[in-house]
Amino acid sequence: MKKSSMILELRKKLDQKKVSAVELTQDYLATIKKKNSELNSFISVEEEFALKQAKHADMMIADGDANILTGIPYTLKDLFCVKGVETTAGSNILKGYIPPYTATAVERLNGAVMLGKTNTDEFAMGASTETSCFGPTKNPYDLSRVAGGSSGGPVAAVATDMAVFALGTDTGGSIRQPAAFSGVAGLRVTYGRVSRYGAIAMASSLDTVGPIAKTVEDLAIILEQIAGIDVLDGTTLDKPVEEYTKALGKLKKNITIGIPKEYFELEGLDIGVQQKVENVIAELKKQGIKFKEISLPHTKYAVPAYYIITPSEVSSNMARYDGIKFGYRAENASELMEVYKQSRSAGFGDEVKRRIMLGTYALSAGYYDAYYLKAMKVRTLIRNDFTTAFKDVDLIITPTTPTTAFKIGENMDDPIKMYLADIYTAPASLAGIPGLAIPCGEVDNLPVSVQILGPQWSESSVLQLGKVIEEL
Ligand code: GLN
Repeated sequence: MKKSSMILELRKKLDQKKVSAVELTQDYLATIKKKNSELNSFISVEEEFALKQAKHADMMIADGDANILTGIPYTLKDLFCVKGVETTAGSNILKGYIPPYTATAVERLNGAVMLGKTNTDEFAMGASTETSCFGPTKNPYDLSRVAGGSSGGPVAAVATDMAVFALGTDTGGSIRQPAAFSGVAGLRVTYGRVSRYGAIAMASSLDTVGPIAKTVEDLAIILEQIAGIDVLDGTTLDKPVEEYTKALGKLKKNITIGIPKEYFELEGLDIGVQQKVENVIAELKKQGIKFKEISLPHTKYAVPAYYIITPSEVSSNMARYDGIKFGYRAENASELMEVYKQSRSAGFGDEVKRRIMLGTYALSAGYYDAYYLKAMKVRTLIRNDFTTAFKDVDLIITPTTPTTAFKIGENMDDPIKMYLADIYTAPASLAGIPGLAIPCGEVDNLPVSVQILGPQWSESSVLQLGKVIEEL
């Protein structure tokens, strides 16, 4: 099935004045009104703000100053700061916080219309949006299931046409896993490709900002706008931004794709999911693409290492929420320590508290070497696994998740089970490489997704292969 870009289709209509940006925005706002109460995807709808942006977009179009995204309605995971718009990170502790500045990636969207903020696990910690203080986002395919997480709100919005595209963040899989559960496409970029300035930090050595959309071409269009160096994020690199959209359709015919045996030998891998991914591989073989079995031997240590490293960074990043600088402040605290204690006790949810405790423990004197340092060494081994593999193959194909979307509540009492949902996404996160999740069919009416991994800075080829798979 050919999948044409929604952005380009709307661009044409806007430029030919078949629809105005204001009318388009009104359409999308009406769809949100109709669908959102059932899904709990949007946690705030910024009607006035959106219409103001849409009017401005219409002016830009009239003046011939429109850019590719001007007037296109989208949503932000509520982890992105927008000047003057409440930003909560799905946490009670940030409710009421109005940022005085806008995230760089958002600035770069050039006249696109931000409809409102969508749901996320609290500070992006989770795989189901169930840790959000706003409650879970429902899966668009089955309302008794989770949409995935932490970018569950954005994927549900894109899947149900409440927004054309979204920006999300991916630390350990938070774009790819929800995209997989809700049947849309999502890209985790190379660490350093897109500025995180103004995206609320979770674990800074892994946090990335990336696009979510219905088609690979739309992902490429958005990436082209948001990628590139930013003086406000010192981890971004001064590397030219490729023309990702022009590169689509030009996949080299002589590439070799790796199939990591550890990913397919996993005990918890659902047989239906495995079959769908194997179908993709079989179809690509028919097109003459070569495959090779590879080994990523340290895969099984990725989740344990990830859940030492990220809580360690979380414990540090969460320190700034002290009841004074941002958001919620305990009312009855009489002195400074009490302000800290009471605000943090009441403001943070259980998962955030669990990670602060885990991380503080892993970093404390006497345990640092045994936990944090060891996890960092494992991280290097995992990165080396990929470096070795990419000497032999150009790209790697895996399932995005071991199962389809689970039931709401199913994993909430078992954090370890919840953490294992990240088994296929955490390794690439630790290695800092790009990963693309694209739908590849359904099992029992729930979407299944295939993941494409590539070396650092290989977004172009990852998207090229994504486009081929999308059209199978
Ligand atoms: N599920 C992972 C976690 O809870 C991923 C989170 C993310 O990428 N933000 O840490």
